[in-house]
Amino acid sequence: MTATIIDGKEAAKEMRQQLAEEVSRLKEKGVTPGLVVILIGDDPASLSYVRGKKKAAETMGMHFKLDHLEDTIEEDKLLSLIDQYNQDDSFHGILVQLPLPKHISEKAVIERISTEKDVDGFHPLNIGKMLLGEETFLPCTPAGIVELLKKTNTDLSGKEVVVIGRSNIVGKPVGQLLLNENATVTFCHSRTKDIGAHTRKADILIVAVGKAHFLTADQIKEGAIVIDVGVNRLDSGKLVGDVDFEAAKEKASYITPVPGGVGPMTITMLAHNTVKSAKNRM
Ligand code: NAP
Repeated sequence: MTATIIDGKEAAKEMRQQLAEEVSRLKEKGVTPGLVVILIGDDPASLSYVRGKKKAAETMGMHFKLDHLEDTIEEDKLLSLIDQYNQDDSFHGILVQLPLPKHISEKAVIERISTEKDVDGFHPLNIGKMLLGEETFLPCTPAGIVELLKKTNTDLSGKEVVVIGRSNIVGKPVGQLLLNENATVTFCHSRTKDIGAHTRKADILIVAVGKAHFLTADQIKEGAIVIDVGVNRLDSGKLVGDVDFEAAKEKASYITPVPGGVGPMTITMLAHNTVKSAKNRM
């Protein structure tokens, strides 16, 4: 079997067109969805992610501001800045680009962002709502993955899902969202004894580890759907995921490429959440 490639770029393009139309409707009513990104320091990966967010937001006609701060900024000053944006009606979404310098508490920063502007969906209150299946801002990468799975027209109900990785931003929430879709979800992580024993039973495999070629074809059940979340740069400079793509695509029914799979949907879901926040305010 040769897998159908799930084209994240195309899925993102379709969704971005719909969002651009929504943005122009909101503008006609006098509301321009606004997103502010606070970036601390000059980490090249973070700079590149923020550029992607800016481009996407502006292409959709949204108001975008980048607040680029020195990595020596004190935590108190950052928290006061977040307070200002919490009060500023021209911004419907606030995102603090992670990771943060070591002297700043990620927890304090995430918890300071108003739950009504938490377009990353990282605030504990919004995570709690997601857990309960209540209306909230869903974290972008997991929500994007669910959208990509829907593109395969697969009924998620009752499917065996194996998620490798249990981070708060990808693994745990994507498993939860798929549980909410009535899938049977297993989480694997660095202490899992025999990962292959789990993955070989999976109808849907989500790999979010951060190690190139982590998942090999022999660990995949024939016909499984494989979602590769990983982003790894090889010494050659090439960007690859966590899955041995060339071999895996001969075994899977559907597979996401890296780049061009999950990444474009993540940014699109951020815009989706910002538009949602603007609509909530009307
Ligand atoms: P993370 O916080 O580093 O978590 C990695 C997870 O992988 C952890 O749960 C860890 O287990 C598990 N793990 C590590 N080594 C393992 C092993 N040998 N066997 C089994 N599990 C192992 O990473 P993350 O933030 O979730 O990101 C994961 C990857 O996705 C990264 O490459 C990141 O760049 C990428 N990513 C992509 C997007 C996108 O939009 N495309 C968005 C976010 C992240 P323990 O918990 O036991 O340590």
